[in-house]
Amino acid sequence: MTRRVIELLLWVAGAAVWGWAAERPAWVFFGALGGALAWGVFDGLRARRLMRWLGKGTANESPRLPGLWGDLVDRTRKLIKKLDKKAQGAEARLEDFLAAIQASPNGVVLLDSAGRIEWANLTAANQLGFDPQRDLGQYVRNLVRHPAFVAYLNAGDFDREIQIDGPGPKASQPTKILIQVHPYGKKRKLLLSRDVTAVQLAETMRRDFVANVSHEIRTPLTVLSGFVETMQSLSLDEEERQRYLGLMSQQAQRMQTLVSDLLTLSRLEGSPAPGTGEWIDSDELLQHVLQEARGLTQTIATPPHEIEAEPGRAFWVSGAKTELISAMSNLLSNAVRYTPGGGHIRAGWRLNSDGSGEFFVTDTGPGIAAEHLPRLTERFYRVDRSRSRETGGTGLGLAIVKHVAQRHGGRVDVHSELGQGSTFTISLPASRVRRQAT
Ligand code: ADP
Repeated sequence: MTRRVIELLLWVAGAAVWGWAAERPAWVFFGALGGALAWGVFDGLRARRLMRWLGKGTANESPRLPGLWGDLVDRTRKLIKKLDKKAQGAEARLEDFLAAIQASPNGVVLLDSAGRIEWANLTAANQLGFDPQRDLGQYVRNLVRHPAFVAYLNAGDFDREIQIDGPGPKASQPTKILIQVHPYGKKRKLLLSRDVTAVQLAETMRRDFVANVSHEIRTPLTVLSGFVETMQSLSLDEEERQRYLGLMSQQAQRMQTLVSDLLTLSRLEGSPAPGTGEWIDSDELLQHVLQEARGLTQTIATPPHEIEAEPGRAFWVSGAKTELISAMSNLLSNAVRYTPGGGHIRAGWRLNSDGSGEFFVTDTGPGIAAEHLPRLTERFYRVDRSRSRETGGTGLGLAIVKHVAQRHGGRVDVHSELGQGSTFTISLPASRVRRQAT
């Protein structure tokens, strides 16, 4: 400050001296006044440079100014730098925060007080079917036109969540979405969306499964209780009594088989996949299931089927022996049950060129129409319902086979044509197959 006063005085004194040198007393006064004005203009120019620099809003390219103006420039530059750093920190934090919300598996949309989209993550855009960039500023009710959603927004009761259909038709888009709005700040809203397609599907499957099991159990139970009532109310002779008891035992056996298959399925679903520790001779497995199948055909088919083993070199497969036997015998028992008596059944293991191995069963039975093939391994799916029931089928056999194959890293394939017989195959990956015992 002192420097500025001295500077002003120097300008005034310089101009007064000029007036005095001119030997005109009045000029001394006007000279001093002119000096003060010139200094004012000169100082104003410095102030203008400072204002211009401030107008740019950057700490760089600061003007070099002396005295008070120089101090002002220095201090302002430091302040700008400090604010810049703070703003950069805040921006980085905001970016981290938005990146975290982007990564969320749930949809997040910020709405302003009028219900316009201020920001949305990609998940929300995909689930609700809008563009996260282009549709910013649009009214959300114009983009998500589901009547339940519009009614929900209009009602303003956001204590509950609502479920709406997804936008479709892309496979990546969910079909069922749960939405809840949470008001915050000054009439703003946070909209959260969640894909519940899988949950819904699981729930539908669970309901269907319970309905199917109940239906399967109710049928033999109704027959059984009918016989019990008859036996209680009628006096039967010994021959009739034995016949009724035989039929009752058949129904009880049917329920037992169903429960046993259900337990097998739930064990397969609930236990970890078998390791590759136990190696089993493929021929040992084959002989075991062939023997069972020959026993079965003797009891249910007239004339019995011709069941033969495919000739070939045995090898070793790894997995859970009981599971593999159960899957293989399910395929063979199906071949026996669905092929008319006297038919031909062939089964065996073979090695593929890529090192994988497969077990197959071929029959000369009725074959299966193409439209049924994709659904055969679904629980309780039957092509020939009455034949399945007649021969004690539960509708769970192929579901068990599929589970066993998948738990061993393999799969089940069916080749069949109506009237041409069927071939069922369980393939195991190369990691579960060895040519030698070592
Ligand atoms: P099920 O206990 O009814 O046999 P599965 O799951 O084993 O149940 O089989 C599903 C359906 O596939 C059967 O009901 C039957 O209609 C059909 N199927 C299975 N194996 C054969 C076969 N070898 N030949 C003809 N149809 C078959």
